[in-house]
Amino acid sequence: MSPHYLIECRIEFDAGHRITHHGSKCRNLHGHRYTVVAVCSGPLITTGEQQGMVIDFDFLREEMNKTIMECCDHTMMLWIDDPLAQNFIDDPKRFENEIRPEVAKNGGYRTDQSLVGALYFMSAVPTAENLAAHWFEKLHPKVRERSGHQAQLHQIKVYETPEFIAVYPAYS
Ligand SMILES: [Zn+2]
Repeated sequence: MSPHYLIECRIEFDAGHRITHHGSKCRNLHGHRYTVVAVCSGPLITTGEQQGMVIDFDFLREEMNKTIMECCDHTMMLWIDDPLAQNFIDDPKRFENEIRPEVAKNGGYRTDQSLVGALYFMSAVPTAENLAAHWFEKLHPKVRERSGHQAQLHQIKVYETPEFIAVYPAYS
C-alpha cells in the first residue's frame, strides 16, 4: 500500500456565541477569534493537476471558506432551542416556518435578517466540540469530491482560544 500523509489547512474568523445552560460567564453573549484546522489524510494522488498531493491546499481552503467562513464569520452562533434565540427575529412565524426547518435539514442556517445582524442557528449548543462535529459533517463530502475520492477529512480542530481546543473525531 502506498504511504499515507496528513495535510492541514487553517482558517481564522471572528464570531459570537453563548453556552445556553452554562453556570458561569459562558452563558453571556460573547465572542472569540476562532481558528479552525482541517486535517486531511490519504495517499498521494498519482495523476492530473493534484499529482503528488493529498488534496490541493487551495481546494481545501476554498471549501473551508465556503462551508465555515462564509456561514459563520461575524455572526452570532446560537442553538436553535436557546430560549433567547427567537428574540433576535422580529417575526416569530419566520422563526418557526423558515429557520427551524432549515436547521433541522442542514444542521445550521445563516440569516442576515434579524434585529442584530447576521445570526448562525445550529441544531446543537455552539460549544467548540459541537462546532467541530458540525463542520466535519459538512466538509467531509467536499474533501472526497475535490480530491477525486482519494483524500479523507481526518479531523477538525476548533481553537476557541489558543489554550482551548476541541478535536473531532477522536482516534485512539
Ligand atoms: Zn465562548
